[in-house]
Amino acid sequence: VAEFRPATPDQAEFLAELTGAGLLIDSGAPGVYGRGPVFEGALRGFEALVSRFAEPDGSEALRFPPVLPRRHFESSGYLKSFPHLAGTVFSFEGSESEAAEQRERAARHEDWSEFQKMTDLVLVPAACYPVYPAIAARGQLPDGGVTVDLGGTYVFRREPSGDPARMQMFHQREMVRLGDPDAVMSWRESWMERAVELVRRVGLDAELDVATDPFFGRAGRMLAANFNYHQDHFADVFGIRTADDELAHTACLGFGLERITLGLFRAHGLDPERWPADVRSELGV
Ligand code: ZN
Repeated sequence: VAEFRPATPDQAEFLAELTGAGLLIDSGAPGVYGRGPVFEGALRGFEALVSRFAEPDGSEALRFPPVLPRRHFESSGYLKSFPHLAGTVFSFEGSESEAAEQRERAARHEDWSEFQKMTDLVLVPAACYPVYPAIAARGQLPDGGVTVDLGGTYVFRREPSGDPARMQMFHQREMVRLGDPDAVMSWRESWMERAVELVRRVGLDAELDVATDPFFGRAGRMLAANFNYHQDHFADVFGIRTADDELAHTACLGFGLERITLGLFRAHGLDPERWPADVRSELGV
């Protein structure tokens, strides 16, 4: 069972300020928030800044929904690393009388899970997961590999918490590089510099985590950006080969958009009109 992690007094106070100012909208479930126009404006501003920094990559823009075929998820290895964070989609299967029983129990907020069956879908746990089977299906990579920009994608992590920075559903702005090891490594190096500069431009302390775990990195840290070098893991699972018919390497870089936006409000205050002029101009707020 996913245990609720209570907020520290500091986190609780920050959350109360955010909801009080209409920046976040409390849903009643911890870690699930609506976003007010001012919060959303800052988030979109940061996302646009990421796009400007990503331009030199000449990425292919692909978009995927926040659900994933369960089969792909099962092959990914996610359950080995984070069995407690995954969200699986269940739906009703049964007779008319069972439907009635389900409805009545639900109306009383009692347990109606026995009428629910696992479907062939899971919630996307990391934005890049749909990319690997999609690129694999095209056949061998072109010369030079492929770079994908996924935009801001909703991802789910089952970790209910009173800390506003630990959301259960949030946007990850991810870029993915697929190619030979050299291409992936040089992309990584160029982004190490860019990510630090990008975060610095909006007045935040640059903190770029280079994952120690080659597949998924350390979970749950307060990070500006997260870089994951999967080596040939996903290429092996989904059959992605380079133009030279070698097993490809893959890496992804993700910015947690809500988390960074929270960092902006934390660092500069709750009213963007009073943020430093250079930060406002970078973000267009
Ligand atoms: Zn990823």
